[in-house]
Amino acid sequence: MIEIWKRSELDRLSRAHGLRYSKALGQNFLTDRNVLEKISEAAGLSPDDHVIEIGPGFGALTVFLSQAAGRVTAVEIDGRLLPALREATAGLPNVEIVNEDFLKFDLPGAISQGAEGDEAIHGGTTSDGQCRCARKGKGTGKGKGYKVAGNLPYNITTPIIAKLYERPRQGQSASVDGAREGYGDTADCEQQECSSSVDGARRELDAAPEAPCPPDLAVLMVQKEVAERLVSPPGKKTYGAISVLVQYYAEAEILFPVSREVFVPKPGVDSAVIRLRPRDLSGDCTETAARMFRLVRAGFDMRRKTLRNSLARAGFPEEALLAALDSVGIDPGRRAETLNPREFYALAAALPRTR
Ligand code: SAM
Repeated sequence: MIEIWKRSELDRLSRAHGLRYSKALGQNFLTDRNVLEKISEAAGLSPDDHVIEIGPGFGALTVFLSQAAGRVTAVEIDGRLLPALREATAGLPNVEIVNEDFLKFDLPGAISQGAEGDEAIHGGTTSDGQCRCARKGKGTGKGKGYKVAGNLPYNITTPIIAKLYERPRQGQSASVDGAREGYGDTADCEQQECSSSVDGARRELDAAPEAPCPPDLAVLMVQKEVAERLVSPPGKKTYGAISVLVQYYAEAEILFPVSREVFVPKPGVDSAVIRLRPRDLSGDCTETAARMFRLVRAGFDMRRKTLRNSLARAGFPEEALLAALDSVGIDPGRRAETLNPREFYALAAALPRTR
């Protein structure tokens, strides 16, 4: 095995392939074998697992993942790295390299591939945007589902997490735009429509947008400050819209910190490895969740203001707003930063639909 995590080996490969590292692509390569092993171990891999790796770079983590998982799909945007990546992973038959932007990568296609007869892996979406695999109890059977691992390019941490967890609304495909800012008020539905009949769900299945199933587990290296925001409880300065997004969809935990000293080139920040496990949201309405994020954005845009003020200023009719807050027992004098994701969801469900 090429010892790809060694600085001398990175230097050799860079020289041999005439590479210059790209800051814009967040290229800071890990050179600590111990950290790489810990990331792979944290994913709890077995030969039944299919892992999607985001940004394999030279393949340092890929090699460890491939030793423990049945299959690794490594998605790397930078084609210049591919010859080196192929060299590092030569002789690892369970590694597939895909030269693509992960944000545009066909995740449902990749996780369905090679899973014929395993319909629970990805069956499209139901009328309310839930992925069918979730409804079928994904993750309970051998060889089903998938995991995600990666030392992320830090500038796209939020869209990557949104792509993995966010469910698209009706008439909207899961997209980078949706992930970044698609929390508008279109295509709403009534709460009761969200528990619509299986027949209704089946009828609309073909027309529904492709929503990837969330991974069974994701182990991701992110900037330390971002990791702290992702797991932050309400009421702290670190709690923001991204905390609500992540904690609504997943249980998030910080596993361990990683010093900037173990990267080449050395970044200006320290890192941390986080683990995300999806929550069971089968009782929730996708459309309500989408409306909820409009509330979240409005609330955190003016985080020092009370909910009553920030949401009214964002265009929510005051009378309806006060009635909704009252019906779910939330004091209108509270600030957005004190609400947990379930409170945001309850408020979104209580508010009347708007166009
Ligand atoms: N996994 C390697 C390691 O730990 O040494 C490299 C990690 S480096 C922080 C991030 C990697 O993600 C780089 O190889 C970069 O080219 C790649 N990358 C950046 N943007 C990407 C994108 N949108 N899709 C896929 N890969 C991307």
